[in-house]
Amino acid sequence: MRGAARLRTCVGCRTAHPQDGLLRLARTPDGVRFDPQQRLPGRGAYLCPRSTCLDAAMRRGAAGVRRALRGASEAELDTALAAARSEIGRRHQGVQHQVPQGTVRSENA
Ligand SMILES: [Zn+2]
Repeated sequence: MRGAARLRTCVGCRTAHPQDGLLRLARTPDGVRFDPQQRLPGRGAYLCPRSTCLDAAMRRGAAGVRRALRGASEAELDTALAAARSEIGRRHQGVQHQVPQGTVRSENA
């Protein structure tokens, strides 16, 4: 089958992941927007839905993200990254940190 998931490189960990598992930041004509539906036009930067990747992206002074988004302003990025952070927080709500390593299981409580 051809349509394999497109890979995108996370701006935090610099690892390629299937696009549909990542969070997207889009550089729209109105500025940088957090784009969880991956529908906004414009260039995008991708991030794993993990706070470690978000932190890594921010630690780099967002330089990599800004490059990916072609000169987005820092204020725009801050806003978009804050939105991404709250989305990550929502997804992890109620999830304990002590998830056993190597255990992959989906439990819908
Ligand atoms: Zn990552």
